[in-house]
Amino acid sequence: MFRDTLKKMDAELKDCVQYKLDIHGEVHQMNSYIGKTLKINWAGFVICCCGKKMDAFYRSSGYCYKCYWESPLASQSIFKPELCTAHLGIEERDLEWEKKFQLAPHYVYLANSSGIKVGITRGSQGIVRWMDQGASQAILLAEVPNRRFSGDIEIALKHFVADVTNWRKMLSGVPASVDLVRIKQELAVHVPAAFKQYILADNTVTEIKYPVIKYPNKIKSVKLERTPNLAGKLLGIKGQYLLFDNDRVFNMRSHEGFVSEFSTEQASQVSLF
Ligand SMILES: [Zn+2]
Repeated sequence: MFRDTLKKMDAELKDCVQYKLDIHGEVHQMNSYIGKTLKINWAGFVICCCGKKMDAFYRSSGYCYKCYWESPLASQSIFKPELCTAHLGIEERDLEWEKKFQLAPHYVYLANSSGIKVGITRGSQGIVRWMDQGASQAILLAEVPNRRFSGDIEIALKHFVADVTNWRKMLSGVPASVDLVRIKQELAVHVPAAFKQYILADNTVTEIKYPVIKYPNKIKSVKLERTPNLAGKLLGIKGQYLLFDNDRVFNMRSHEGFVSEFSTEQASQVSLF
């Protein structure tokens, strides 16, 4: 059922991030399409993760009406981890699901994507998350036993650094390199006393490069609701964005669930990235 929908690309950290898209039963090595023409044609309907087909997602949320209001995947604490309560045994929408999701090691990290930001991630997802956000550098700050604690640390650090990526800035080029070890040491001072024990001594900085020939000058975001037939020369991939000619960018992640045709010009044997 989800065979024909667009979805988040798989990203793998190599010298340059390697992207893969699984659609129509085929795995596309996206890096090999850079410099080639790519076409995405939307069929005019979407499928929610519960399997419901419709013309559009409820409130452009990526969910149907029922999932938006009832699924633990779309609950408030997904967007605001500081509202997590499973560690206290308090249910939000589905305590069993929430316990599995929240009561597991989480990390607080610092990343440089469009300037420094603080973020949180589950278990070993760090590198995947950084690549999805288009970060160029990242470092782990703390490891905590549940999602709520990571949310509490993030809230404390939000007074000093951003907690969201400015995607327009992220897509406009490679950010200036920063000394994340020094910034981690400066921010660690502001971690609340109760959580200081979770600060990690490991100061490994992960550096990430993306396959991009040319960054857009004046970014135009293309959405399938308005442009159901998208065709253009692929000039790069960063985060979950495809960068096309004429300064157009396409967010793959925000089109998850869109039933679409996906086609490319024959990829050359010699790939650029
Ligand atoms: Zn649904």
